[in-house]
Amino acid sequence: MSVLVFAESQNGQFKKAAFEAVTYANKTAQVLGTDCIAICIGDAADAGQLGKYGASKVLQVNDASLNDFDSQIYTSIIAQAAQANNASVVVMMHSSCGKSLVGRLSARLNAGSAPGVNQLPTNDGSFKVKKNVFSGKAIAEIEISSDIKVVSVMGNSLQPEATGSDVAVEAFSADVPARRVSVKEVNKVQGSVPLPEAELVVSAGRGMKGPENWGIIEELAELLGAATACSRPVADTHWRPHHEHVGQTGVAIRPNLYFAIGISGAIQHLAGVNSSKVIVVINKDPEAPFFKAADYGVCADLFDVVPKLTEAFKKFKNA
Ligand SMILES: Cc1cc2nc3c(=O)[nH]c(=O)nc-3n(C[C@H](O)[C@H](O)[C@H](O)COP(=O)(O)OP(=O)(O)OC[C@H]3O[C@@H](n4cnc5c(N)ncnc54)[C@H](O)[C@@H]3O)c2cc1C
Repeated sequence: MSVLVFAESQNGQFKKAAFEAVTYANKTAQVLGTDCIAICIGDAADAGQLGKYGASKVLQVNDASLNDFDSQIYTSIIAQAAQANNASVVVMMHSSCGKSLVGRLSARLNAGSAPGVNQLPTNDGSFKVKKNVFSGKAIAEIEISSDIKVVSVMGNSLQPEATGSDVAVEAFSADVPARRVSVKEVNKVQGSVPLPEAELVVSAGRGMKGPENWGIIEELAELLGAATACSRPVADTHWRPHHEHVGQTGVAIRPNLYFAIGISGAIQHLAGVNSSKVIVVINKDPEAPFFKAADYGVCADLFDVVPKLTEAFKKFKNA
């Protein structure tokens, strides 16, 4: 028996999410009294470093032609690794790749699955995991009773823990099915911090009055090393690009710190951000619903507060 974790990489590098996934899988293996084995697909360098996060063994299908994610091929390889290593649990992050793998893998392995969990499984003989449901308004406890279980883990559910050391990397020889879909072109979103992975997010809404005023948001975000985000009407009116839209119909995020500036806090917006660890709201309306979800609230004109906040952060950083 083992816990198998898929460690995602991009352009030959592991994402932070890969370390989170291995940490989660290692802790799950400890709960079950077994080993954590990592698998990576593509030519990611330094795969042995996954040992630091708890993998006792790293399997790699080191083939640059597999660097581009393909859900069908990756499903086939991960399922073969799960069977070869007698995995009782298969773990991945709830990223766009992970989301597309969970269902396929559970069908392939005849496994029960829980997508988007945010806590470790129980340690009481059953396998129960928790996830947020109904836009974060409730927490569901899910018991998986099949022999093999597949779970994907929400980003930022736990911090990666590098307490171990590098381990040997073994080549995993899998039957790789023919690619049925190929990516012809990728137009990368500009911006230094990808929104779904960002630990700090500065987000703004219609209170900004127009796109010409976004300089103060960008300046604050750049200073903090944060990603920028926005409410839906802001993206719908093309003040900001659609990939910044967060909420029920946009990206769901879970940063450590979320600034909501000139955003009312409608339920559809909250649905995508209310799992943030700390929420700071700046709004001039004391009745704005967002204040109910805020850890810190500033009831004032954003055009007054945001530049002052930026100045204060500059002074703090230079001190
Ligand atoms: C099916 C459906 C799905 C939806 N999905 C989403 C979604 O995914 N994401 C999303 O964001 N919305 C979504 N919406 C829209 C949502 O209901 C709200 O309409 C939207 O979030 C409001 O955006 P806003 O807060 O930027 O604008 P507004 O509601 O116009 O709020 C602007 C806020 O700025 C404040 N403000 C104004 N001027 C200043 C100032 N100078 N200083 C400080 N504060 C100021 C105001 O007090 C106000 O609270 C959805 C709606 C529906 C029906």
